Amino acid sequence: MDFLSDVIYLDNNATTKIAPEVVEAMLPAFGPQYGNASSMHTFGGQMARCLDHGREQAAAFINADPDEIIFTSCATEADNAAWYSATETQPDKRHVITTKVEHSANLAYGHYLEDKGYEVTWLGVDSDGQLDLDELDRSIRPDTALVSIMFANNETGTVFPIEKIAQIVKSHGVQLHVDAVQAAGKEVIDLKKLPVDYLAVAGHKIHAPKGIGMLYLRRGTRFRPFIKGGHQERGRRAGTENVPYIIGFGKACELAATSQAQEVKRLAAMRDRLQQGLLAAIPDCKINGDQKHRLPNTLNISFEAVEGEALLLQLDQYGICASSGSACTSGSLEPSHVLRAMGVPFTFAHGSVRFSLSRYNTQAEIDRVIEVMPGIVSNLRAISPFARMK
Ligand code: PLP
Repeated sequence: MDFLSDVIYLDNNATTKIAPEVVEAMLPAFGPQYGNASSMHTFGGQMARCLDHGREQAAAFINADPDEIIFTSCATEADNAAWYSATETQPDKRHVITTKVEHSANLAYGHYLEDKGYEVTWLGVDSDGQLDLDELDRSIRPDTALVSIMFANNETGTVFPIEKIAQIVKSHGVQLHVDAVQAAGKEVIDLKKLPVDYLAVAGHKIHAPKGIGMLYLRRGTRFRPFIKGGHQERGRRAGTENVPYIIGFGKACELAATSQAQEVKRLAAMRDRLQQGLLAAIPDCKINGDQKHRLPNTLNISFEAVEGEALLLQLDQYGICASSGSACTSGSLEPSHVLRAMGVPFTFAHGSVRFSLSRYNTQAEIDRVIEVMPGIVSNLRAISPFARMK
């Protein structure tokens, strides 16, 4: 097998292929255009203009203003910077609210704050992975510094009702951070309408390279920089700007914005075809996540009495890349924290696979997965210790 050309890549919630247009846009900045955007000379000024253009493209993508965009090294940094700023600027407030199903970029900051003596409310989810909004409302207190809630879940694709969440949080006058890493490019993000204070996006989930992200910071929100040093990013994120990647990120935002409306429909049709094909051919499986409010590209499916990791290895033999749980928890034998929070039974949670599609997938690839999966599942069930436990 020619691995690079034959691979069927269905792990786009972990990372995406860099769009060829993005590579092309970045290339001059790896060659002749190597100036420092902060330099006074014309050569540096060219880079400053590229930086401005990238910021305009990024802002347009989420309907924000360019001065509300802070470029970061990744979404983890953007998430951490939001938590840091919200707590540092409101030292008297020692309570934070988040959910049990966040990405570790936020979960870990919550645990860090608990170690520092903060009280953290961890909101649970129902069997569809949805929050109880009354519980959110009741949990907000006068000493709540921040509510941090993801837009869409990376493992199941469940989309939270972020407008309603924002209304509730803002009715209490509390700051809201939204991790929009998986929603970007798949859900409409309009920050002129959505009253959030902070919002994080990762480049590598929208066909830009790894190592670039952005934090949206609403104008007027008090901010304390997480990374301290020089005056870059208006003193809000020190360090020489990664202009090549910012150019790529801007281009990726532009491409996503132009194709989103059409692409979302195409992705949902392919994902639904995959879901129906697998459900029809394989007994004892279960879809994880809210099927009415789900990212169009994501299918998280559990096969009872199958070991998920073994399933992934078998798929890998066919050149099919998928994932069990989030990329970071893959390789661990613990069922995912998201599926556990949803109460997915143990013998199903263990056999969960996430297929996540992108604009580069084709129907032929989906049909190939539908063709090979039944055999893989029945072979694994024949040797599964879970089958004997039933
Ligand atoms: N938040 C969510 C929901 C994610 O899915 C991820 C990456 O998987 C991150 C945050 C972290 O993004 P990055 O890899 O850019 O730090």
